[in-house]
Amino acid sequence: MSWWTRSVLPKIRSLGIKRESTENLWQKCTSCGALLYNNDLEEQQYVCGNCGHHLRLAPQQRFAGLFDDGGWRKLDLPAFSEDPLRWRDTRRYVDRIRDARNNTGEPEAMVVAEGRIGGRTCIVAVQNFAFMAGSMGRAVGQALLTAADRAVAIRAPLIVFPAAGGARMQESILSLIQMPRTVLAVQQVREAGLPYLVVLTDPTTGGVTASFAMLGDVNIAEPGALIGFAGARVIQQTIREDLPEGFQRAEFLLDHGMVDMVVHRHALKERLALLLDHLCQPERPAEDAAAPAKAGKAPAPKGKAAAGPGKKEKAGLQTVEADEAMTVVGLAGERKQPADAELDIPALPAEGGAAPAGADAAAGAKKAAPKDGPAEGGPPEGGEAPKANGGRAAGKEDRKG
Ligand SMILES: [Zn+2]
Repeated sequence: MSWWTRSVLPKIRSLGIKRESTENLWQKCTSCGALLYNNDLEEQQYVCGNCGHHLRLAPQQRFAGLFDDGGWRKLDLPAFSEDPLRWRDTRRYVDRIRDARNNTGEPEAMVVAEGRIGGRTCIVAVQNFAFMAGSMGRAVGQALLTAADRAVAIRAPLIVFPAAGGARMQESILSLIQMPRTVLAVQQVREAGLPYLVVLTDPTTGGVTASFAMLGDVNIAEPGALIGFAGARVIQQTIREDLPEGFQRAEFLLDHGMVDMVVHRHALKERLALLLDHLCQPERPAEDAAAPAKAGKAPAPKGKAAAGPGKKEKAGLQTVEADEAMTVVGLAGERKQPADAELDIPALPAEGGAAPAGADAAAGAKKAAPKDGPAEGGPPEGGEAPKANGGRAAGKEDRKG
C-alpha cells in the first residue's frame, strides 16, 4: 500500500489531473487586502465588494464595461522608432518597452477604440497604467491626436480615461513636447463643437494632469483616485507643512473645485450617456431630417437618409469628405461650419462667428442647388452641400440603429 500511495498514485495524478492555479482565480484588493474571486470581480467591474475600492483596469476591461453590448473596435495607431535617444538608465529603454509589451499585450500605453455609449458613437482613449506607468511619450501623444482626428472626422464625442505617472522620462524632451501637442488635439475637438469628456482614474499625475487630463468640458473622477501634479511627499517637503487628510484624492478635489463630479464605476456609463445627451443636440426623427429637401434648401439624395446598417461605411466616408471640404475653406481664412440645424452637436457659444457660419453654409447650399439639379424633387449629382446633408442624415440613422 505504501508503495502504491508513495510512488504510483502521484504519477497517475500528475498525468491526468491538472490543478488550476489559484493565482488565476483570486486576487487581493490593493486597498483592504480582501481576497477577491476573479469571476466576481469581472462582474463587479473590478470594484472591491468588501471596501468599494476601484481597482485599476486594463483598456480591454474598460472598453468591455463601457460600450453598448461590449461592442467596440480598436483604432490603428501609428508605430514609432523605439528608442530615438538610445536611452539607458539602470536598464535599456528598449528592454523596458519589450517587457511592458509582453506583460500587457499592447504596443503602447494608450489604446483608442470606437463604439457606442447609450446608442451614440464615441471615440474613447484609455491610458494603461500597467504599461510603464502609463507614461506619456510620443506614442501616447500621437494616440490622443489620432483619437481627436477620428472624433472630428466622424463628428463624435471624445472621452479620455487618463492613468499615468507623468511623462516618459526615457524620451526626455520628446515626451514633454506631447503636453502642448495633446492640448492642441483637445482644442481641435473643441473647435469642431464636439464634447470632450475626461474620466480621471487612479492615478493621474505629472505631465498628463498638466495637459489633456484637466481640460474636459466635464471632468469626472473615479472614487478614491489619486489626482495631482507633483507627489504629496515632494509637496510636503517643499512647503514643510502637514497635508490635509485625503489630499490629492478625487473627493478632496471635488470639494475644492478641481473636478466636477466623482462617479462610481457602476454608474459611469449611464452618467456619460446622460452628459452626452445634454451636450449633443437631440437626434431628430427621420421626417425632420428630410425636411430641408422638401424646402429645396439642401436636397438630400434619395435613399441616403434611410441608409441602413449596410451603408454605414459609405455614410461615414461622406461625412469625412464634407468635413474635409470645410477644413479647406477654413484654411483659406474664412472658416465655415455646416448649418447648425444639420449638426448633432451645437457649436460652442464662446467661438465667435461660429453661429453665423451656419447661415453661410445654408446659403452655399442654395447656390449649389440650381446649378447641380432642380431645387425640388430630383437628386443633384454632386455638390458639397447635398453630400454633407446626405452624410449627416445617414449618420443619424447610423447612431439610431
Ligand atoms: Zn477592498
